Amino acid sequence: MFDRKKIADLSHDHSTRNLIIFCIVVAVLFGVALVSGQLELAVENNTLKTADAEFQVHVLDVGQGDSILVVADGHAMLIDAGEESSGSTVVRYLQRQEIEKLDYAVATHPHSDHIGGFPAVLEAVKVGRIVEADYPAQMTPTGSIYKNFLTAVKQEGARFGVMTAGDTFSLGNAKVTVLAPEEDYAPEDLNNASLVLRVEYQETACILTGDMEEPEEQAILQSGAEISADLLKVGHHGSEASTSQAFLDAVDPQYAVISCGRENSYGHPAKGTLERIRAVAEKTYITANDGTVVYLFDADTGESRISVNGR
Ligand SMILES: [Zn+2]
Repeated sequence: MFDRKKIADLSHDHSTRNLIIFCIVVAVLFGVALVSGQLELAVENNTLKTADAEFQVHVLDVGQGDSILVVADGHAMLIDAGEESSGSTVVRYLQRQEIEKLDYAVATHPHSDHIGGFPAVLEAVKVGRIVEADYPAQMTPTGSIYKNFLTAVKQEGARFGVMTAGDTFSLGNAKVTVLAPEEDYAPEDLNNASLVLRVEYQETACILTGDMEEPEEQAILQSGAEISADLLKVGHHGSEASTSQAFLDAVDPQYAVISCGRENSYGHPAKGTLERIRAVAEKTYITANDGTVVYLFDADTGESRISVNGR
């Protein structure tokens, strides 16, 4: 009646079945761990969202021109606003970013591809303070673009004045330092009178250069100011006369961004300049190819990344 063999077989069958179940469980757990591990990796690499970044630098695609939005802890500063024809593009961009007020609007220098869009911006957005560079009075432009800019500034009613090297101010928890031009600096032209800013936020920093060329770069190097930065907005749309080796080496940027238009008539960026930059910076972006380029920094984790085309 009692069949040992059968029991033995049965027990053998049980252990085989248990082993199979064990293997399946291990495989499933391993699979889950693998997938979640991959997800975690993805989180680390590419999910710092604009909304989660306390410090942001947006180099807007405004064709041949400059317009840069800096946001720190919800406080915003706009540096340049592109040509007059780009005014509405800049306004729409600010609206998409839900910027209702600019603490600062900075005109690096009074050329049309930098200040042309300001009247539209000043009409659409409240501005706390408007700043321009301290260039010699005889260099003041006489054309309609600068007149329209001044009229818009007046209508806005914001405080309007110049800043010079060594001036500092806060934007949220960011510290902004004016690197150039010095007071009573005699620039060769308006490009070399560009207001150059270094914006520091925790352990990261960026340098915004307007249309500065080598003479103004030399002046900054001689001033001995701290100019290391993770992000460099390249001077003068990447022209040959800008971004000298000495300046580039001193800044030593991880990311470089060139703002220029597609097939622009100036040949920006210059081949030699691009080669110099690419030999130093880890990554170089050009708005003509990449569109708007955004640098994001998370204050809680210290994580940073570049976002292009909203990705
Ligand atoms: Zn320019």
